[in-house]
Amino acid sequence: MEVSEQIGPEDIGLEAIFRRLIGATGPISVAHYMAEANAHYYNRADPLGAGGDFITAPEISQMFGEMIGLWLADQWQRAGKPSLCHFVEFGPGRGTLASDALRVAERFGFRPNVHLIEGSSRLRQAQRTLIPQAIWHDGLDSVPREGPLLIVANEFLDALPVRQIVRAEQGWRERVVVHNGERFLPVAGARPMDTAVPATLVDSPEGTILETCPAASGLAYEIAVRLKAQSGTALFIDYGYDTNDSGPQTGSTLQAVRAHEKVDPFANPGLADLTALVDFAQLRQIALAGDVDCLGPVGQGEWLMTLGIGERAAALARTDPAQAQGLMTALDRLVSPEQMGALFKVLAYRGPGWPQGEGFGT
Ligand code: SAH
Repeated sequence: MEVSEQIGPEDIGLEAIFRRLIGATGPISVAHYMAEANAHYYNRADPLGAGGDFITAPEISQMFGEMIGLWLADQWQRAGKPSLCHFVEFGPGRGTLASDALRVAERFGFRPNVHLIEGSSRLRQAQRTLIPQAIWHDGLDSVPREGPLLIVANEFLDALPVRQIVRAEQGWRERVVVHNGERFLPVAGARPMDTAVPATLVDSPEGTILETCPAASGLAYEIAVRLKAQSGTALFIDYGYDTNDSGPQTGSTLQAVRAHEKVDPFANPGLADLTALVDFAQLRQIALAGDVDCLGPVGQGEWLMTLGIGERAAALARTDPAQAQGLMTALDRLVSPEQMGALFKVLAYRGPGWPQGEGFGT
């Protein structure tokens, strides 16, 4: 059965809760809407994989997690094999990436403590079957403060709530969600937001939207502060834009996916995956502010090819020729610029004294 068809009583719940909330206290911000809708969404069913709503790189092929395991093990070796190390993953989904990465790392003698930061109790259960030794956390705060951190976040930042402000007739306003009796829709709210707009954009035409992700920025800074204190590295892989691309400076990037199709983000809250593009230029700025090195971003395809995913695919195909065609299809999905290779980007933070990660040039 498709995940999207599993409509339980709680799903009726979110729509009713939003309507009651808006009726009682007025419109809610786009950020509030997105945060609540996603918290609900990730708790109701396993959204990942062919039978779910969307598919991610680790679910496409084991090679993805294996490359990350290699990347981490290589740094651990060059760091002099510290005995106390923490692997920390944000939003591990089914736990596939962690399980593939840790299996490869172990071949190099690297057995870090495993900490998983996961908001969904349902997904925690799935992770427990693959990575029974893990310790679960609600955030970075309870992760040990001693020993280098090796942090991974794949398609995590894109799920964090974005804040939007919109140029209305009278000035800039927070973009909020109302209910018109039939459906939810985004409109300009009442609260003036003019002081939040960069000088160069103040005079944008009516309807212009500016999007930021305070949750992602705050988290990236928290990570930088921890790496500065404990050393280690953080790897962010996500779809997004950098200032060098033609990426959005203005406009909404909020989108919803259900059963592998794009749908209206304001229809059926909690039943579709809501994401927004990650602003990689912002992540670079935050590294600067937090005084850690920043590597990348580079395209996911380029990064994986530099790490040797092509050779890995060929080796797996030799071992099991019946799988060769499937492996080549998976490889193409992960690395080709027309598929995930260019839109998905890889960026790393590096704490003091920690070796430079492979795949980002010299
Ligand atoms: N990294 C996985 C899953 C990506 S989906 C993969 O690549 O397959 C996003 C993941 O982040 C899910 O595990 C979801 O439950 C989790 N998540 C989303 N928002 C979260 C939040 N605010 N706090 C903790 N976990 C969150």
